[in-house]
Amino acid sequence: MRTEKRPEGRDAQPWPTGSMNPGDEAPEGTPGTGENVCPDCAGSGRVQNGRCNTCGGIGVVIVGIGGA
Ligand SMILES: [Zn+2]
Repeated sequence: MRTEKRPEGRDAQPWPTGSMNPGDEAPEGTPGTGENVCPDCAGSGRVQNGRCNTCGGIGVVIVGIGGA
């Protein structure tokens, strides 16, 4: 079994780990955070001008949960 590194590109993830959208309060997977419906596009991922930049077009943002 060979263990060569995969070439980048085809198998690369859409977003590198830790990437964030403008509406995110924390990178995905951060403890104490979770997905929430994007307040700007209401979960549609779209706004009048096209793709929602707040959530990056996915309709959800990462926000802090619990506490407060
Ligand atoms: Zn949005």
